[in-house]
Amino acid sequence: MSESKSSRLDDLVARSRQDQAARERGYREQALKMYPWVCGRCGREFTRANLRELTVHHRDHNHDNNPPDGSNWELLCLYCHDNEHQRFTDAAPGRGTTHGSTATHSPFAGLAGLLKGDRDAGDDSSSS
Ligand SMILES: [Zn+2]
Ligand SMILES: [Zn+2]
Repeated sequence: MSESKSSRLDDLVARSRQDQAARERGYREQALKMYPWVCGRCGREFTRANLRELTVHHRDHNHDNNPPDGSNWELLCLYCHDNEHQRFTDAAPGRGTTHGSTATHSPFAGLAGLLKGDRDAGDDSSSS
């Protein structure tokens, strides 16, 4: 019944995943053909044996930006690639500071205080 529908969706998802994988393989191969197999940060050299540890980094961090001249690619080893992205996210504003839950500035918190204040004020006036 709904099987055909869901399998068609699965098919679509699988196909778009394949597309993406193919695209990533595509630019990786191109970048590896274009550049020497050396990490652009630490200078580590790579051979076929450990080539899968050499990754393609996108200078502008946009994986969809793959100009054929390779100007947006940089070959980085896994570690330097990781560092590069960490640096990028660290630089992003607001990262690292875990602000309290949004409940802190919920309007109801103030309302509760007001209501409580009212009752307290009443107590105060009677006591003073
Ligand atoms: Zn490296
Ligand atoms: Zn990257």
